[in-house]
Amino acid sequence: MTDISQNVLPPELEKKLSHCSRLPSLPSVALKIIDASKDPDIGLSEIAAIISGDPAISAKLLKIANSPLYSQRRTISNLREALTLLGFNAALTIALSFSLFTTLRHAQYSYENYWKRSILSAAIARLLGQQMGLSRLEDLFLAGLLQDIGILALESLSPSPYQQVNKDGIKHSERISLELNCLHTEHSYVGAWLLQSWNLPERIINAVLYSHSLNNHSAKQNTNLNRFHYCVSLSGNLADLWLEDMPDELIQSTKEAVQMFLGMDNNDINMLISNINSELQNISNLFEINLNDEIVRGQILDEAHEISLQRNLQIIKQAEENRRLIEGFETQVKNIKEESQQDHLTRIYNRKYIDRFLSEEFEHANINHWPLSLAFIDIDNFKEINDSYGHLAGDKVLTAIAEFFSSNIRQTDVLARYGGDEFILVLPGATSDIAETMLSRLVSLLNKTLKIEFENKVIRTSVSIGLATHMDKHDFDTLKDFIRAADKALYKAKAAGRNCLATY
Ligand code: GH3
Ligand code: MG
Repeated sequence: MTDISQNVLPPELEKKLSHCSRLPSLPSVALKIIDASKDPDIGLSEIAAIISGDPAISAKLLKIANSPLYSQRRTISNLREALTLLGFNAALTIALSFSLFTTLRHAQYSYENYWKRSILSAAIARLLGQQMGLSRLEDLFLAGLLQDIGILALESLSPSPYQQVNKDGIKHSERISLELNCLHTEHSYVGAWLLQSWNLPERIINAVLYSHSLNNHSAKQNTNLNRFHYCVSLSGNLADLWLEDMPDELIQSTKEAVQMFLGMDNNDINMLISNINSELQNISNLFEINLNDEIVRGQILDEAHEISLQRNLQIIKQAEENRRLIEGFETQVKNIKEESQQDHLTRIYNRKYIDRFLSEEFEHANINHWPLSLAFIDIDNFKEINDSYGHLAGDKVLTAIAEFFSSNIRQTDVLARYGGDEFILVLPGATSDIAETMLSRLVSLLNKTLKIEFENKVIRTSVSIGLATHMDKHDFDTLKDFIRAADKALYKAKAAGRNCLATY
């Protein structure tokens, strides 16, 4: 299986596509949405500004928020409410789906069966994910929607590889054979290439890249694939049940694939079919696409598998509930883990964490022969601060010093409270010269600038630092020797009159 980071297309075809002026292109609002969805700090009003720039998309988002997909008791009447209900990521992804769907559909690439398959696959990928209790359902929708975009790209070539065939009549599997014959690749690869040039998230690109991979059964052994990819890949095959005349064996083999890759049993699959049927009218309204034939075909599929609607709803609700519970547990576990690594007062790492971190870094330094610096930082005459201003003032000084160092070190350096008024700083990769320059600057910067206000008084303070560097001037036999050396250097700094740095 090729990864998207490598070249996915035969060079000749890639060259042709790169020079093709009719290639599907991104609408400007989609560009903004893609950028926004990559920005972790984006806020509600910025997202609202982007989306409201396209009134059609805003209207669709409101419609979606009020659709049975997100059935709410109260009506969502403005964009702000819709964004809050859907969540930022989901809202951006839905907006992107709509924007791409409408722009591309109304451009020159308008053959109806292509769009029917895309939209059905999108809805099915989402339903599969929902039934499997996966998160990021809107990503599934988008990946399902775009999985065949390679067809549009190939269609824009002249001559198009499809020129000899009936555009709307050709079956999906026949199309793939044709592509393999003419171009030695398939549209899934072309689609991934196009989406990569649009800078879409890797998750979506890979899902498109792998969208035909389940056609051979060894796919289960492919460790690149996960349930997200399975849902997208199977969505296309499932959509064909509603779109193509199919012999019973093909219906059976599609169900077997769903069973094999997603572990769904017969009941689950029946429920899925019935859910897809319930969704058809909704999709047809939202995307303004005529699905009357598909609705009839769906009823035939469904009649073969009578199933209680009530039971479906209950199971879906249960799956949603389970997903929410799991997410809650995951957050709890994360919080507990963070807390167990944290010093309660200063909120920086605690001794337990840094002991393990330091021991790992010592190993890395030995193996890779890169330098590792270690500094003990101790507040000068801290006892006097406690004695003169009280313990609470002392606490505030400890916190202020932790903050001072945290905001003045590199991202890769790790600061922890070692105990009492002593801190430890680990600087992976820092030579003794680099660490010495940086730390002696910080000693004097702290002494000159750090003013801690406490009950209308200003407390000034200083620190002494002892520094040792492994794999540089010294090679220490053991971690204990290394720590002892930094500790000795700290004594040296104290003996030299404090407010200074000493090295081992
Ligand atoms: P030196 O310059 O030699 O380091 O002198 P010092 O006074 O800083 O060192 P000493 O070890 O004598 O005093 C450290 C003090 O830190 C003693 C202890 O009561 C105080 N201390 C330890 N933990 C805390 C804490 O969490 N909060 C406060 N306020 N004080 C603490
Ligand atoms: Mg001290």
